[in-house]
Amino acid sequence: MGITEIMNAEIMNDKKEEKLIKIADKISRCRKCRLWKSRIKTVPGEGPADSELFFVGEAPGKEEDESGRPFVGRSGRLLTNMLNKVGIDRSKIFITSILKCRPPHNRKPRKDEIENCIGYLIEQLEVIKPKVIVLLGLVAIECLMGNHRNLREMHGKNIEKDGKIYFITYHPAAARRSSRVRRIMEEDLKKLKKMMD
Ligand code: URA
Repeated sequence: MGITEIMNAEIMNDKKEEKLIKIADKISRCRKCRLWKSRIKTVPGEGPADSELFFVGEAPGKEEDESGRPFVGRSGRLLTNMLNKVGIDRSKIFITSILKCRPPHNRKPRKDEIENCIGYLIEQLEVIKPKVIVLLGLVAIECLMGNHRNLREMHGKNIEKDGKIYFITYHPAAARRSSRVRRIMEEDLKKLKKMMD
């Protein structure tokens, strides 16, 4: 890349960062569903605007709600450890969830909450345009790919749909509950790393 191309890429990236900040700001003022009443902080997601990998979880938990940062609780720490183990640098990926606010007592996201919130994720995807969208668990899979329920058959590979490339694996909360799932998830992330190299 020549100097002009590098400078253009930097300008483009600054614009993308600005757009992401605007989306996060909109999220911070969101009152589209009931969850604004019980949240402490919104959790828009974090990561560089030029991320090649875009990770999608389910919804913030207690520690995410308190800090405003995604995947910093127990599941998040396990995910971060697994990423480190396979050589994926968490600071170079964008990481967010389907819902940007914590559901009370970490209950499952409701249909209307997803419908009201999904637009923010779509906007983030349109700005970042990642190479691969990594879906962690069934909620993310069903929201973004439709009614596929068979994680066992789908995990660990790239699946193309509507011009986007998805990579499916388990949610780290499931890996916390089962060492078998943890091993599978680690293998999946190893494959992901290899595909990106
Ligand atoms: N689980 C998620 O799906 N998202 C978070 O941010 C934290 C835990």
